[in-house]
Amino acid sequence: MPELTVVGAINVDLTARVERAPAAGETVADGVLHRGPGGKGANQAVAAARLGAAVRLIGAVGDDAEGRGIRERLARDGVDATGVQTSDAATGTALIVVDATGENSIVVCAGANAAIDAGALDVEAGAAVLMQLEVSDAVVAAAAEAAGFFALNAAPARPLPAGVFEQCDLVIVNETEYAQLPEVHDAPLLCVTLGAEGARLYRHGELAASAPGVVTTAVNTVGAGDAFCAALVVSLLRGDTPDDALTRACAVGAVAVADEASQPALEHLDAYGVQR
Ligand code: ADP
Repeated sequence: MPELTVVGAINVDLTARVERAPAAGETVADGVLHRGPGGKGANQAVAAARLGAAVRLIGAVGDDAEGRGIRERLARDGVDATGVQTSDAATGTALIVVDATGENSIVVCAGANAAIDAGALDVEAGAAVLMQLEVSDAVVAAAAEAAGFFALNAAPARPLPAGVFEQCDLVIVNETEYAQLPEVHDAPLLCVTLGAEGARLYRHGELAASAPGVVTTAVNTVGAGDAFCAALVVSLLRGDTPDDALTRACAVGAVAVADEASQPALEHLDAYGVQR
């Protein structure tokens, strides 16, 4: 069972499903609300746990009902949340609008995620770490410094803190982030996700593996990239070949877009030819 430490944002996702997203100044009144756990850090941690890894999550929630609810859910998923700090700021919240085509727009209210104490970051020296860029530069730098294997999902795209790129063993980006972050193109391992088209893996800029997308009906793409990242890293840590890891991650990504939740159940993976 691979051991993975995930560092990153923990949110409540308030998702409104509408026929058509409102334009600026417009109100649409047909929303159906769904409230569920989210945040790239929590999504990746839960996905990795549901894929069989022993997962430790590091981040922060508020001292509020949402924060307590999130801790309970993480415990039910077997995620070790002892490294989740309790902040004076409110638990992070994402306001998500998903239209009838599955396209989404999101406003993130970072709250506690912006208040993680980098000096108290409980990353064990030499740990395999997966993280994203929804938290402060100081937190990214501290996690990179402590990690033995450092996988960075460079999302949302922004310039990396000084010295962090040099610590990256694996960078995962979608096509937009790839275009926005030329500095990661020469990563030792770079995975570029291509939505419904699948993903490619580059080693120092040379194509090392590619996997086609898995055909499915996209219901909600929020969290699909997170499930993909978790699957890729867990698979590589298990010692799978880059080809197998990429194929597996694409299958998990497809299962995730077909699931309404930001933290998809990841059941029925065998229907996609994937063992848990
Ligand atoms: P992000 O969601 O982070 O923007 P992508 O859109 O590239 O990134 O999606 C990440 C992964 O999720 C893809 O590599 C693929 O495996 C899966 N995926 C996303 N959209 C679809 C889709 N419409 N059909 C099948 N798989 C998808």
